Amino acid sequence: MTDRTHDHSALLQLRNVSRHFGSFRALDEVSLTVRAGARHAIIGPNGAGKSTLFGLISGTLPVTAGSILLDGQDVTRLPVDRRVGLGVAATFQHSSLFLRESVLENVLLALLRRPGGGLGGLRRVAARPQAIAQAHALLDQVGLPTRHELAAAELSHGERRQLEVAVALATDPRLLLLDEPAAGMSPAETARLTALLAALPGEVTVLLVEHDLDMVFELADTVTVMHLGRHLMTGAPDEVRASAAVQSAYLGTTEVPS
Ligand code: ADP
Ligand code: MG
Repeated sequence: MTDRTHDHSALLQLRNVSRHFGSFRALDEVSLTVRAGARHAIIGPNGAGKSTLFGLISGTLPVTAGSILLDGQDVTRLPVDRRVGLGVAATFQHSSLFLRESVLENVLLALLRRPGGGLGGLRRVAARPQAIAQAHALLDQVGLPTRHELAAAELSHGERRQLEVAVALATDPRLLLLDEPAAGMSPAETARLTALLAALPGEVTVLLVEHDLDMVFELADTVTVMHLGRHLMTGAPDEVRASAAVQSAYLGTTEVPS
């Protein structure tokens, strides 16, 4: 079903989206448009509802009210796998890697989720030279070209997050959701991740939740600020930095750099 009022530059539209937990409003009528090709960051203090919002977009959490449109198509009630098929990929705040499997196998398993990836199981896919070549190319892309034989558990924290990006890219996403990818990273690891995200092709729209504001202001062309389950403002990085409302939402938590 395609919506007549759909804005064609929008890849993702949230319309008055709410999520309640009992009587608690984790998200309260949030509306937001993410342009195709955007590098869009969502910032806001802990508890603002950022991860909840990602759950609603990826489909791991049902909405209480409101609607979610992907390219004009209402996906509000579609299950996760259908959304993956439409090009929504997420890395979560808590890692979802298979730690005992190798780095390469983690990417191969994700390639299986592609439309046409088939249900033949890892062994069948692994037998396909094309899938293996694709997995190696993805590991190159995220800066892990020599780590493929290690178990995922043996990677450093930063390398695991790089692998999570490769796993997300393996589903050939149009929309990549990254929830605090730089959390717990050293400055060098953050710099590597920032460079990798900056180099992603323009066809991949990026929606990023991140507390590292240097990273946000380096990558983002659009910034949304959330506070206590509400949308506070969306604008160009400079507008957001200059906003008094944003400064006050951050008082006592993180300073918005000037
Ligand atoms: P953020 O990612 O911005 O830090 P979250 O989306 O994780 O915020 O959480 C927003 C609010 O919703 C928080 O107050 C959190 O405690 C609450 N919350 C999140 N998930 C649940 C849940 N499953 N049950 C109850 N409350 C929740
Ligand atoms: Mg969060």
